[in-house]
Amino acid sequence: MTIEKIETFILKDKLQQSFFFSQWEYSERCICVVKVTASNGQYGWGEGYGPAHILEAGIEFLKPTVIGQNPLENEVVWNKMYRRTLDFARRGVLMASVSALDIAIWDLKGKILNLPVSTLLGGAHRKQIQPYATGLYYTDPKNPSRDFVEEAKLYVSQGFKAMKMKVGLGIETDVKFVKLIRETIGPDIKLMVDSNHAYTFREAVELARKIEKYDIGWFEEPISPEFYEQYNELRSKTTIPIAGGECEYTRFGFQQLIKHKSVDIIQPDICASGGLTEAKRIGALASANGIDIIPHTWGTAIGIHVALHFISNIESIPGRMHDANFLIEYDQTENGLRERLTYPKIKMIDGMIEVPNRPGLGIDIDEDVLREYAMTKEEIKSTFV
Ligand code: MG
Repeated sequence: MTIEKIETFILKDKLQQSFFFSQWEYSERCICVVKVTASNGQYGWGEGYGPAHILEAGIEFLKPTVIGQNPLENEVVWNKMYRRTLDFARRGVLMASVSALDIAIWDLKGKILNLPVSTLLGGAHRKQIQPYATGLYYTDPKNPSRDFVEEAKLYVSQGFKAMKMKVGLGIETDVKFVKLIRETIGPDIKLMVDSNHAYTFREAVELARKIEKYDIGWFEEPISPEFYEQYNELRSKTTIPIAGGECEYTRFGFQQLIKHKSVDIIQPDICASGGLTEAKRIGALASANGIDIIPHTWGTAIGIHVALHFISNIESIPGRMHDANFLIEYDQTENGLRERLTYPKIKMIDGMIEVPNRPGLGIDIDEDVLREYAMTKEEIKSTFV
């Protein structure tokens, strides 16, 4: 059996309401998904994290390397893609193209073998994963506090036991809002903060020290991802665990974060850092160094299912009778592609999401919804060229 066909789709959802974080404004969600079909007619779906049109061009570039390969030999295919892109893409969006294809091949492999991806990974240590809500962006840059309290209360009422808020608006503003959210949700809900590398080292130390008293689960991307040693120094100056890695790629990139003892928690985006094949290796690195791994997710429910299967397979070292909760990032911002593209829908019951035990990733695409969001060649050309 061989891989016979690769199709890409650029999907765009224009948002009803723009939202902001420390770096820029989101007014739409635009995502490249890929369908890989085998010679027996079975297919798998993948998605990449990064600028959709560049990702699509990367997949186009990789097609001759992947067509004709055996979808059951995902590591062989991964290595061929890696070698084909290494000279130009040790980091960056071409690796996200590799990731999207790799994920689609895992989904396809699972469907061919009639096994869930978690089983292919080695088995699910846990059947349910606790989601944390990613939200608390702001919609009005002049009045960011307006929606924060209502949104935080909504997450608690929906059953979330953890949530992550955006910081990076300026230290005094951040401290005010962190205090506001902690007072709103009370002491029993886990609260994390994410500055999306908005700060210098000194600023990050100052903010961390000022919000330590609000019991912060982790401080994500406090400073630029390039400063591995400053991350390490920051860890020594605050009691808040430091997290990062959503801008990092492959086991070789994560080795830098780990070697420099930069973070307490690594956050690879499986749809960018090398797909599931490489995530398994990054996970082994984290495990061998006693570092927690909580993947970054942002996109459609394809990516969320990828993370569910992967997290179910993370081994507790050494483990104990009452296992710790393993978290999955569950974005709550407006995104029709996350809510409507795939079925069955994601369900959170009693604050937990089940790991599907259906073949592959355990989802399929609603082709009507796909067509509704898919950009035409003309739209793509006029938007991106
Ligand atoms: Mg982040």
